[in-house]
Amino acid sequence: MSDHSNVVGFVWHNSLVGKFVTLAVAVALLILGTQAFINYQSQKNTSLSNIINQSEMLGSFIVSITPEAILSYDYDALNNYMEEVNKGEDIVYAVIFNPDGKALTSYIDRRNSIIAEKMRNTKTLMLEKVIKDLNSNKDIIQQSFPIFFQNRLLGDFKVGVSKSRIEKELQSKLINQIVINFIFTTLLGAGIFTVFRHYTMKPILQLIQGAKRIAAGILDKKVEIKSSDELGHLGDVFNQMMDKLKTSIEDKDEALVTVKELNLYLEERVMDRTKELKGVNEQLEKLAMNDSLTGLPNRFSIQNRLNNLFIEAKRDNSIFTVVMMDLDRFKDINDTLGHDCGDQLLIEVGLRLKDILRPSDILGRLGGDEFAILLADTDEINAKTVANKIQSALEPSFYLSDMAFSISASIGIATYPQHGTTTSTILKSADVAMYYAKQNKLEYCIYNPGADRNTPDRLSLMGELRQAIHENQLELFYQPEVDIASSRIIGVEALVRWNHPERGFIPPDDFIPMAEQSGLIRPLTYWVINSAIRQREKWHEMGIDILISINLSMHNLNDADFAPQLEMMLQNTTVPVEYFEFEVTESSIMDNPDHVVEVMDKLNMLNVSFAVDDFGTGYSSLSLLKKLPVHKLKIDKSFIMDMETDSDDAAIVHSVIDMAHILGLKVIAEGVENGTVLKLLASLDCDLVQGYHISRPLAAKLITPLLEHGSWDASNPNSGSVHSLR
Ligand code: C2E
Ligand code: CA
Ligand code: CA
Repeated sequence: MSDHSNVVGFVWHNSLVGKFVTLAVAVALLILGTQAFINYQSQKNTSLSNIINQSEMLGSFIVSITPEAILSYDYDALNNYMEEVNKGEDIVYAVIFNPDGKALTSYIDRRNSIIAEKMRNTKTLMLEKVIKDLNSNKDIIQQSFPIFFQNRLLGDFKVGVSKSRIEKELQSKLINQIVINFIFTTLLGAGIFTVFRHYTMKPILQLIQGAKRIAAGILDKKVEIKSSDELGHLGDVFNQMMDKLKTSIEDKDEALVTVKELNLYLEERVMDRTKELKGVNEQLEKLAMNDSLTGLPNRFSIQNRLNNLFIEAKRDNSIFTVVMMDLDRFKDINDTLGHDCGDQLLIEVGLRLKDILRPSDILGRLGGDEFAILLADTDEINAKTVANKIQSALEPSFYLSDMAFSISASIGIATYPQHGTTTSTILKSADVAMYYAKQNKLEYCIYNPGADRNTPDRLSLMGELRQAIHENQLELFYQPEVDIASSRIIGVEALVRWNHPERGFIPPDDFIPMAEQSGLIRPLTYWVINSAIRQREKWHEMGIDILISINLSMHNLNDADFAPQLEMMLQNTTVPVEYFEFEVTESSIMDNPDHVVEVMDKLNMLNVSFAVDDFGTGYSSLSLLKKLPVHKLKIDKSFIMDMETDSDDAAIVHSVIDMAHILGLKVIAEGVENGTVLKLLASLDCDLVQGYHISRPLAAKLITPLLEHGSWDASNPNSGSVHSLR
């Protein structure tokens, strides 16, 4: 339907103007009609009473003048009187009867239709009869006036007056009135129609057309209503509304364009990032395979090659040997001459070893001063020869800072299949053998299963540790974790300390591995968690609300009892579980990733959160990290401590931070020993730091004032470390 058809061809009863005009005309007709009818009625009443008055006056007149004529039988006079009566327009008859009812004189209007009809019907000229009959006629008003003379009744004057002339007159007047009224209302209706249509309907139709244009998306044609009434106002408001709509649609279109552009930009960024990440991953992989200092295969690479050796040996039914070696007194050289000299020594050692080995032998650096040599198709007898060759290669002095140093090494030997059938067991066997060699100052030692656990030293130490757990010889130290941006202490890491009554302080690195091997790690971890919870409660009461990080060993995650025990312990404290965090080292995760994911997911249901500890040493993959319910990565201190001097380490730290942020993880750097490293980390967007530069691990009593203060004073580093025992 077009706009035009709607405007012109409107249906009367469906249009506003039709309804309005019909109503107005109906009301006018009703009012005027009622008024005409009332007029008619009142005029009729007045005329009738006039007629009656006139005939009464006539009666009185006749009654007063006729007695003489009656008494003198003067019929002429009586007839003359009747002649007079005859002049009355509406009088249809007038008769004077004598007392016997005989007419003395009479006048009768034979032209009157009623009289004429009566006469025709009665077929007689008997006036008495005719007049009697007329009694019942409603159109004729009859009156009679007795004529007395000195109280003697002389006769009766009867007069009949017709109402019909007046009624006819009034009726034609009424009809005239009705016709005039009708013409008036028609004109009125037409007038209202014209005015209403022009002043009301036109603007309304304009508004309808405007609304239709909006519906069709045309927003620039305004509605023009030139009027100051409500419709004019409505038109203005309508136009304003249209303007608003137009701008908001334009804004929306603009926003859509911006969103599209942003999306494109984002996609490009994501593609760039993915490319970058790929590059970083490739770089990491390269770095991951080789030790950046010596260029030798690193622990990860050695583990890989060991895996291959296992596959080959199992397939070919062959044997192979792992030789593990670490330098004696390396720590002293490092501490007294500095890292640079230590590094130089390690490079030299690597070169000398390479020199005496065959090309098929695989030499790698496991970390620190630990080296491993994989000898394919070699039994322990031949491995002894290699061990001897190593010792002789190390005999000549090393020159560091223009000083000569003689260095010795401890060597452990383990052979497949008798000393281990998996990568970790054979490495552990070689490690135990090396440990034994060092303890006993032997040049080398072949793994002896009997000598492993049952060396008296180990046995007694483990017995003492069991006792220490029960007798509270252990103590937790706490090292603050600081938010770089705000300098606030957001948490502490709980680190166990053993103060042996006779042997003195034993560092955790010396008893934790043993506790792990002997199974004592279970009660030890429960003791640590329990003590940390009690300490955390004390701080909670003092209004100190910080995160507490607790170290877990792989053995804890393998323990089916661990989750229920932990749940019980966390239920028995008023401290919300969100304030506890558990650290698991990356390498222990990598030992059995699928299992760890499963256990962590289970513990995650208790709302327990996890951090990956010593990150960078275990060579985990991005995809694995995504699977783990961890929220924090703790970059291993070996990278942090060296990043100032080693650009490879700095690059690794940089990409780890970037990668962690992309995965939505927080990054903490441990081992921050000076302000330069701290600044470097801040520039790389690292979130948190921990290290001697901020504070050494401290006993609860000593760290509490620091926590009460809440933030770390960068201008006064090491403020908390003066009282440290380590
Ligand atoms: P971790 O978990 O990597 O702990 C950090 C170690 O780095 C601590 O050594 C800490 O004192 C040390 N450290 C912190 N800042 C610096 C720094 O700036 N420079 C240097 N050079 N070192 C710094 P700590 O206390 O001797 O602990 C050694 C390891 O023993 C821990 O390494 C952890 O693996 C284990 N450990 C300690 N307490 C527990 C425990 O309660 N449970 C378990 N399972 N392991 C523990
Ligand atoms: Ca830790
Ligand atoms: Ca660590």
